[in-house]
Amino acid sequence: MKLHFHSAPVPEGVSLADWQNWQWQLRHSLKTKDDFASRFVLSEHEAAGFDAAGSTFQIRSTPYYASLAATDEPKDPIRQILMPTKHELKFGAQALLDPLGEKRNNPAPRIIHRYPDRVLFLVTDTCSVYCRYCTRKHFTGGDEAFVRSRDYEMALSYIRSRPGVREVILSGGDPLTLSDGQLERVLSDLRSIDSVEIIRIGSRMPVVCPMRVTPELVAMLRKFHPVFLMTHFNHPREITREAADALTLLVDHGVPVFNQLVLLNGINNDAAIIQAVSRRLLYLRAKPYYMFQCDPSEGTDHLRTSVDESLAIQRELWGRLSGLAMPNLSLDIPGGGGKVGLVPNFEVSRGDGWRSFEGWDGVRADYVDPDPAGRARPIDADQYQDEWAELVSAKN
Ligand SMILES: *Cc1c(COP(=O)(O)O)cnc(C)c1O
Ligand code: SF4
Repeated sequence: MKLHFHSAPVPEGVSLADWQNWQWQLRHSLKTKDDFASRFVLSEHEAAGFDAAGSTFQIRSTPYYASLAATDEPKDPIRQILMPTKHELKFGAQALLDPLGEKRNNPAPRIIHRYPDRVLFLVTDTCSVYCRYCTRKHFTGGDEAFVRSRDYEMALSYIRSRPGVREVILSGGDPLTLSDGQLERVLSDLRSIDSVEIIRIGSRMPVVCPMRVTPELVAMLRKFHPVFLMTHFNHPREITREAADALTLLVDHGVPVFNQLVLLNGINNDAAIIQAVSRRLLYLRAKPYYMFQCDPSEGTDHLRTSVDESLAIQRELWGRLSGLAMPNLSLDIPGGGGKVGLVPNFEVSRGDGWRSFEGWDGVRADYVDPDPAGRARPIDADQYQDEWAELVSAKN
């Protein structure tokens, strides 16, 4: 079936040219309680959220993203993503300031280095929408729209000094809030480092300000390939015509797009919603990649699902949703342990050399291990220039 996508409504009194201009969207962001009250009928909980939450966590939305949310229904999924409430003030079960323990893995300014072959580079602390469940609440929304030049140089030297780092993930904040010129400088500096193979850009702009993805931007990105874009759609209602056009433009210019969603209580914790968003993204050639457990950052308890509930959603999708559209359920171990995959358990029993499984629709059978056989021959370390290969050949 051909899938259809609907345009966001352009508010009265705004020209189409302004509406489609990403800088206009950023300049006309909703920030104050009054800005929001002029579009939404604020509930008591929301009004209280503005009065207090603003001091701990920034509030901001593009007019475009706000136009996708219902004006008179506080339970509307998009509204719950952008609107503060008094529930954010509750000290939760875990309430961590730095849920990912990023300060522990921070060897240079703006660098988070947790895995041997890839680093995060936080190039900005600014976002065009501040999601209420954000993991980096205490990093975002300062006033370093672009990393200071001393920190920038130190971050680049760190990457340069670690040839094992083959992948740099631009993050923040949202790197696509930078101008094309700033972004081009970052990409070209990274490309001047020989050991950097893959560049990823983590951005929610295709969701909250899809007009940011212009023909000029994608023509610029194309010069620095392989560049991947990791985006963040949580709900099928976010996939408008404008968002679909942004994804198409990226993919057509050779930028593979992956989606990382966060399971959120009352917003998308339902298998049918995850199926709808995943199918639509796949149709637009964006690969559903991760489905994250919401991190226990301060004031997010009301938005978090339990691990059991998330596993039940993953299990419902198993077998019914194309493997291409299936996101991997994953959780970040609090304190900096890194990601762990959460997979529904299909094993029903096991013994010596065998395991018994029950598949997604109830078919059961045993899998019997073969007798131990030989090992693969080590790969040629010179040819693959891979430290793992060196390890393997050292063992043999
Ligand atoms: C998530 C994350 C990555 C990327 O992990 P992938 O599984 O490769 O997507 C890299 N570094 C840090 C610190 C991360 O949190
Ligand atoms: S776009 Fe990402 S970094 Fe910015 S507020 Fe939302 S979740 Fe946090």
